[in-house]
Amino acid sequence: MNQLLSVVIPSFNEEGMIPRTAKTIAKLLQEAQIPYELLFVNDGSTDTTWEKIQTEAAANPRVKGINFSRNFGKESAIYAGLFYSAGGCCVVIDCDLQHPPEKIIEMYRLWEEGYEIVEGVKHSRGQTERYTHFLAAKCFYKIISRLTNVDMSRASDFKLLDRKAVNALLNIREKNAFFRALSSWIGFKTTSVEFDVREREVGETKWSTWSLIKYAVSNISSFSAAPMQIVSLLGLIMLLISLVLGGISLYQKITGTALEGFTTVIIINLFTGSIIMLSLGIIGYYISKIYDEIQGRPKYIVRGTCGDLKNTPTEPKDIL
Ligand code: UDP
Ligand code: MG
Repeated sequence: MNQLLSVVIPSFNEEGMIPRTAKTIAKLLQEAQIPYELLFVNDGSTDTTWEKIQTEAAANPRVKGINFSRNFGKESAIYAGLFYSAGGCCVVIDCDLQHPPEKIIEMYRLWEEGYEIVEGVKHSRGQTERYTHFLAAKCFYKIISRLTNVDMSRASDFKLLDRKAVNALLNIREKNAFFRALSSWIGFKTTSVEFDVREREVGETKWSTWSLIKYAVSNISSFSAAPMQIVSLLGLIMLLISLVLGGISLYQKITGTALEGFTTVIIINLFTGSIIMLSLGIIGYYISKIYDEIQGRPKYIVRGTCGDLKNTPTEPKDIL
């Protein structure tokens, strides 16, 4: 059985963290006598992250690196790490050590007992978060949990996946893949370990409010077409309103008091206009997602690698 543990570490502008993260995790796994490889995925950093990864790889042959041609986002970095991993199981962990690395050992032991997915579940969310973010995140996870039928409120990207689960994930051809939810969606024998989110020591969070909103909308729409049904609902509401108002207008016409009600006309016009535009927006969003998927562009582009990796960057295929 392949006992190797691949640790996938998405890294974006983490020059301050790479050496420390590499050494901390390597030391822990060495002491626990777990065979390992560390896969740093440099997600188009604008600082010296890639140079730092290369230095670590030169010092320790178990450290390997994948360099993206630009920033493709954390999800893409995770998928690249999984694709290049050679282990019988993979752990995905943040580069900033906010996910406690000691838990990797606990996860690995559970995997040895036969579990195929070990979810890292947040015990607390850390103090760094702004309250508005906290509330928004709560709303988002409520919706996503309902859509996926899995409790996502404390879910994180910190998890261990057996090779079978990794292959299942890699076979999903969806470009806009939401790792956190898809890794539950695929099933398998799952258990969880709780952890406390630590404070970030160096650097700062890569999330702005706007990027969080985009992330939420994109992930909700990839699990549900419900917003499109809202369009039908809005149409139905408008129909009911127009029936009532139509009745009133006809009555006024018959009784000869039809001249009044100009304000109503304006309000109804504006109301209808907004609902139509909103609906077009929702439909347009889904069409643009279909467009994105159908173009079939890759999730990421690899510019180079370092260290001895299982896969090499894929050669172009003949597409007819
Ligand atoms: N990250 C990435 N690409 C990005 C943004 C972030 O690979 O475009 C990595 C980042 O280096 C870190 C992890 O994803 O290892 C989590 O990012 P961050 O700490 O900014 O998020 P937070 O912990 O605040 O949710
Ligand atoms: Mg972080």
